[in-house]
Amino acid sequence: MKVSYCRSSDWRKGKIAIRTQKNSNVREAEKMGVVIPEENFLFERGKSGRNLDRPKIQLLLEWIKSGKLDHGHLFISSYDRLTRNLRDLTYLLELFEFHDIHVHSAKEKIPKDMTPSVRTFYIHSLGVVSQNYIDTCRNHALVAAERRRNEGKPLGSAPYGYEYAEDRLILIPTDGATIRLIFELYLSGLGYKKICNELTKRGRSIYARNFKETDIYRILGNATYAGMLGKGENIYKGKHQAIVSMKDFERVQQLRKSKQRGKKYEVNYPLRRKILCSCGWHVSCHTYNPKKGPLRRYYVCANPIHREEGGTTQLPAEAIEEQLITQVRKFLANQSFLKQLLRHIEQEHKRLKQFERKRLGSIKQQKDQLLSAYENTLINASDFSEQLKQLKREEEMNSIQKHKVVTKENLSRLLLTEEKMEDRFFFNLIQRVELSDSNELDGLYLEQLPAYNLMGRRNEYEATDTNP
Ligand SMILES: [Zn+2]
Repeated sequence: MKVSYCRSSDWRKGKIAIRTQKNSNVREAEKMGVVIPEENFLFERGKSGRNLDRPKIQLLLEWIKSGKLDHGHLFISSYDRLTRNLRDLTYLLELFEFHDIHVHSAKEKIPKDMTPSVRTFYIHSLGVVSQNYIDTCRNHALVAAERRRNEGKPLGSAPYGYEYAEDRLILIPTDGATIRLIFELYLSGLGYKKICNELTKRGRSIYARNFKETDIYRILGNATYAGMLGKGENIYKGKHQAIVSMKDFERVQQLRKSKQRGKKYEVNYPLRRKILCSCGWHVSCHTYNPKKGPLRRYYVCANPIHREEGGTTQLPAEAIEEQLITQVRKFLANQSFLKQLLRHIEQEHKRLKQFERKRLGSIKQQKDQLLSAYENTLINASDFSEQLKQLKREEEMNSIQKHKVVTKENLSRLLLTEEKMEDRFFFNLIQRVELSDSNELDGLYLEQLPAYNLMGRRNEYEATDTNP
């Protein structure tokens, strides 16, 4: 019996992939001087190769298990049509071997004398069947997004005022006029609510209803109307027609920012989200405005259970900020100590690198041993892939740690710090502050030195510094 199996995961009518696969299978059969009967062409459309949960592959398995395909031929354009999963591939190859089925892949020519397990490994190492397939898909999506960016095409759907057609945003003139009006009204000093009222009075609507304040908020902040696409750092110039000028858009953003600031107290918490309670929660910031006397600011643990148990205290903001900033200034003023620290870190780096090289060498050795055990069929495929995964995890584990190591560059930046600096600069340097069980300052860490506690009681660097 001769069978041809074709699969395409993204199926649209008239998609070429399946036809190409069929033609290549027919050609392979012709080379062998055999003909595949029309009813033995299995076409799987719109199915991924992640598992064997597909109707046509199930039919194929039925044929195989019933013995219909014994000593027969299976034609495929490549192995990844059968499966993308290593475990499934192992299963299939063993089944083919057992029933003496000859697989003909147009793309991959596998030597005939290989045992199924070696063949699995061989196909796997060709990169055909890979569990990383999902990652690859994601990369494809990223590459596609990048291309759209370069071509100035939109990534998502069209916002109010445009419609999405043929890969581009087309301006809807009447809605565009409303958007221009919104920007003008805002720049003339009107607030969100007044703009809504004005629009309703003039008979303007959005999505067949009256404007709400949130609509105005969203529209005023959407750079699409100034000709831009994308978000945050990934913003790029679109090819579509802008509704307002970039200058007006930026004026609106500035106006919005200034209005925001005026709204709340002029109280600033420079240590917001930086202080950690011993219970693991961040402390929250509070302002108490008593009838008599000045405003009082304090930090207190945000954990309701911890607060209920009475283990927390209100930390007066001024005092704690003063104390921390003095510590940071003192630390940075000690240049000779910083230089010493730098030397120490360089040595530490060297030692770590050496250790790392040794470690990776040993992992590589273990991998080689695993490979040869597999090639000599001392272990089965699932054990092999399991152990290989474990080794890969170990390899990666270290690269995570690498990010935590203080770099020479980071520290050199600290050395350049000038003496006359605003407090805010020093607050920004602080990465986190830790409290003890008794709510006292216990740890102070800088962004550039996340592993070094400036408040460490037994501090080896300071110890050496005081005894030159
Ligand atoms: Zn707490």
